Order: sequence, then structure tokens, then C-alpha cells
Amino acid sequence: PDSDTADEAVRGTCDDASICKRFAVSSGYWKDPYIQYFVRQAKERKAPEINRGYYARVQGVNLLLNAFLRKTECNCQIINLGAGLDTTFWRLKDENLLPKKYFEVDFPAIVARKLYNIKSKPPLSKPIMETHSGESLLLDAHSLDSARYSIIGADLRNLKDMEEKLKKMSMDPQLPTLLVSECVLVYMTPEQSASLLQWATNTFPTAMLINYEQVNMMDRFGQIMVENLQRRQCNLAGVDTCQSLQSQTERFLSTGWESADAWNMMNVYSNLPQEDVMRIEKLEFLDEKELLEQLLLHYCISWATKDSLGLGLAGITF
Ligand code: SAM
Repeated sequence: PDSDTADEAVRGTCDDASICKRFAVSSGYWKDPYIQYFVRQAKERKAPEINRGYYARVQGVNLLLNAFLRKTECNCQIINLGAGLDTTFWRLKDENLLPKKYFEVDFPAIVARKLYNIKSKPPLSKPIMETHSGESLLLDAHSLDSARYSIIGADLRNLKDMEEKLKKMSMDPQLPTLLVSECVLVYMTPEQSASLLQWATNTFPTAMLINYEQVNMMDRFGQIMVENLQRRQCNLAGVDTCQSLQSQTERFLSTGWESADAWNMMNVYSNLPQEDVMRIEKLEFLDEKELLEQLLLHYCISWATKDSLGLGLAGITF
């Protein structure tokens, strides 16, 4: 019962993420015509630093994801782990960037909600129909299986069951595979997330993983970090701030990944296309720049690659 309650709380987090994203979208931070079909508009305004934080998160992940699609020329598959109500499938379809197949995994209860929305909203279902060909499309209360998009209900802590379900949806381990975990690993124990990372390298000879999550940086180092932004990478040898970014890459390297990197979101933010950053910085007045900096310093994007096909995945960066 206790762990059920804990899981229920974890499931609730997907609404929070999408409500914040929808609010930022409606304020003009980036375009996502699909998120409105998954969550209601936020009742209250979100603070500008929250919107900018989500902007950095979404643009940062998209940037690496697009780079992977370019390297593989879309001859690949994407598996979004703990995808929640993520709308990336529709963005990629609109931008003509769909991989061979796009998979999503989340708890069955979340998947059921997502599928209910897809079934009842033509702007969501039409693009799936359009990319579908051949045999009849499966879209029931628990899973979706179409030519280019599959959604399965599974627990990321039960790898055997998840792998079986993915294989039923014709996941191909030999294809270059991008795994995405955006605000997901933090809900697992270190052992469980290590098992997931290890499963990925055992299963896919050519793969990349993009991970977004919180890092436990010590506040008193925040200021030093800001001053060292230009250095692009955290290279303050020996301080705790680095160790937490470093522990991110160590976690990858100890689970079979060949290369790994981790950037705090302040670094990511200052390496996003600056024209667009200037545009969004004009959207809302930000009173306390320091608040944003503190927020950005407590999150990071880390990524890792394994490259049996020699596609040059290790070269992907901001
Ligand atoms: N990745 C989405 C995003 O960034 O918008 C959703 C993030 S939300 C904070 C975390 C998601 O991970 C939730 O949808 C939750 O249900 C899912 N999740 C967490 N632990 C999971 C597990 N053990 N198995 C499957 N899904 C899980």
C-alpha cells in the first residue's frame, strides 16, 4: 500500500510537467499546438523563471534529440521512458523528422489517460493515422501500436516485462536507438536507475541516452559557477558542484556506456541558439536574474552514447 501511494504521487508529476509546459507555450516561449489537448490551462500564472527553466529544458532536450536524428538520418528508433503526456511524436511528424518508430513507456494508468485523449481528439489521432500503413492499427485502452508510434504501459523497474512489451511492438535492438528520460530517473532508487541504464547498453549496440534531472549542487558554489559560465564546462576541479555533474557521467560509464557528458542547465541555456533566447527574454520581465540562475544550476542534461556502428554519436553536443 505504501509503495502504491508513492507510485500514485509519481504519476501525478506528469500533469505538473505538462501544465507548466502548456503555460510556457501559451506565453510564447515555444510552439506546441498539441499540448493543449492533454492538460488544462494553468489556473495561475507561472513565474518567469519557471517558464525560462522549462524553455531551457525543452529546447535543450530537443537540440540533442534532433542531433541524434541528423546523425542517424532518422534511420533509428526513439524510446521515451516515462514519457507522460509528452508531445514529441507530433512535433517530429510536423517537422518531417520521424524516426522509423517512436516508442513511449509509462505506467499503465498514465498511458490509459494519454490514449483516451488521443482517441477522442482528432488533431492528435489524425497524424497517427496518416503515418500508419499496412495492417490494422491497434489503439485500445491500454496500448497503441501503429506503424510509426507505439505506447506501452509498463514499469521501468520491471525490465523483463518492459522489454517483452516493446518487442511485441517490433522494437529492433539493432537499430540505432535514442532513449530519453526527462525527469524520470529521480523517481527510482540508484540501483533501479542503474539497472535501467545497464539494460539499455546490454540491449542496444548503438545507442544514445538523453537524461534531464536535478543535481544536488551546493548553493554557496552557485555564484562561482555563474562566473565560470564562459568556460562552458564545469571545470572547478574538486568542488562538490562538479562532483554531482561528474557522478552523472560516472553513473553512465559504470553501466556500459562508452562516452558521457553532463551540463548544468545554466550552461545549456547559454549554449542554446542565442537569437531565440533573446526573443524569449523579451517575453516577460525577470526581476531577479539570480533566481533563474539558481534554478538552472540545480538541473542538468546528461547524455551518453555507445556506438558499435561508428556513426559518430560521441561527437553530439550543444
Ligand atoms: N517525461 C515527461 C516530461 O518531461 O514531460 C514526464 C515527466 S514526469 C515528471 C515523470 C513521469 O515518469 C511520469 O509520467 C511517471 O508516471 C513516469 N514514471 C516514473 N517512474 C516510472 C516507472 N517506474 N515506470 C514507468 N513510468 C514511470
